[in-house]
Amino acid sequence: MSTIIPSPAQVRIFDTTLRDGEQSPGCSMSPSQKLVMARALAELGVDVIETGFPASSHSDREAAALIARELRQTTLCVLSRCTPGDIEASVRALEGAARPRIHLFLSTSPLHREFKLRMGREQVLEAVSRSVAAARALVEDIEFSAEDALRTEEDFLAEVIAEAIAAGAGTINLPDTVGYTTPGEIRGLFERMIAHVPGARDVVFSTHCHNDLGLAVANSLAAIEGGARQVECSVNGIGERAGNAALEEVVMGLKVRGAYFNADTAIDTARIVPTSQLLQRLVGMPVQRNKAVVGANAFAHEAGIHQHGMLRHRGTYEIMRPEDVGWPSSQMVLGRHSGRAAVEQRLRALGYLLEEAELELVFADFKALCEKQRVVHDSDLQALMQDGADSQGYRLASMTVSDAGHRARATVELSDPDGDRLFETAEGDGPVDALFAALARATGVDLTLESYQVHSVGLGADARGEANLSVRYEGEDYDGTGTSKDIIEASALAWLDVANRLLRARDGVKNSELAEA
Ligand SMILES: [Zn+2]
Repeated sequence: MSTIIPSPAQVRIFDTTLRDGEQSPGCSMSPSQKLVMARALAELGVDVIETGFPASSHSDREAAALIARELRQTTLCVLSRCTPGDIEASVRALEGAARPRIHLFLSTSPLHREFKLRMGREQVLEAVSRSVAAARALVEDIEFSAEDALRTEEDFLAEVIAEAIAAGAGTINLPDTVGYTTPGEIRGLFERMIAHVPGARDVVFSTHCHNDLGLAVANSLAAIEGGARQVECSVNGIGERAGNAALEEVVMGLKVRGAYFNADTAIDTARIVPTSQLLQRLVGMPVQRNKAVVGANAFAHEAGIHQHGMLRHRGTYEIMRPEDVGWPSSQMVLGRHSGRAAVEQRLRALGYLLEEAELELVFADFKALCEKQRVVHDSDLQALMQDGADSQGYRLASMTVSDAGHRARATVELSDPDGDRLFETAEGDGPVDALFAALARATGVDLTLESYQVHSVGLGADARGEANLSVRYEGEDYDGTGTSKDIIEASALAWLDVANRLLRARDGVKNSELAEA
């Protein structure tokens, strides 16, 4: 007697780092930063990239168009409410995309119907049918999300899904919008919907879980057990409130426990850590040290008994190898004799994928840096890339801080977004206080500091100071990061990183009233 093992189910990874993730406090990205991230996501092997919500802001429209022009292999998706205006904005943002998808959403739960939409059941069904059909007439690949699906009456949810499928949706997403469900509950819901809704077997069911109770990844995996074949997730789990399901955890869960789930993804897992680190830098939000898969301690073994076991057999305490998820085994150092190929390879390992012309510019900067210092470390390369990405904002040209007497005094020289030079001097209770006062005066941005942390990153000759700032500005939170050999300069860079972020956010007309699926 032989047992036939069915081939593993392919689960699509739908990445929403640039939409749900970017929408969360302190995680805003400029269109050019989104393009850098989108390239890394394509290289990681995600099936769908949600690039933004075109009707919500000019910046989202610009980013979607920029990404659509360049990425031809990955499905590019934009979010849209069920209105003719949103659908039109979505179609325009996807113009020229090789594989466009429109992601329509409408709330279905009684709470949302009554208090947010002020619509009855019939009106919701009618809006779903009309909007899906209208979008489908313009773009072939349509996804529909029943917002707050997990708190919707099951009979009504089934009706909505049937209506969306009949109108032409090829993907049906059942989001746990408020992070409320449990693994057993969501698994059962997917099983019942797929078994009973007319047409359900001809479409892909998708899960989108939030982490309010710390269950987003567990619930996503349970939904796959229930028949979901697309997972909506984000790198490092960034997203509204407590975030979305973390892409790296879902993917490695399926990989490490492949025999249990009998499912797999198309992700190149060796790109996970570079992509995670790139995002941490782009949004200035580091992950906690003990974060699964991508945290600094995820593969560290300090306890003596663990080390002893590890030396005999790695499997004693390790279920995956650091290299499987892209942790570098050693630091590579570049120098004057390093060629363009070596620089390109190192940048790839850091998550940056460059076009020929961009590489040319970075290589020239690299050569100039080699004139000043003997070796070039990862942090130097990251600083070069950071300078390029933030070229639209304020940049630090020079600074001096003196702490003689009882008042500290700081002088800063900046270039403003138009490239003009600014000088400003201020005094304060200490060097950092004086420095921040001078920066505030020079930029005209008055930040209220929520937290300020300085710590060391890297080892030996590569050790740098990294400063992390959180501020509140007009009711919104912003984070920023700066790295330098000198911690005072790192603090200035972090301050400017925050200021540039909030100036960008202020320019983009973000509408926080807009709901999300
Ligand atoms: Zn969401």
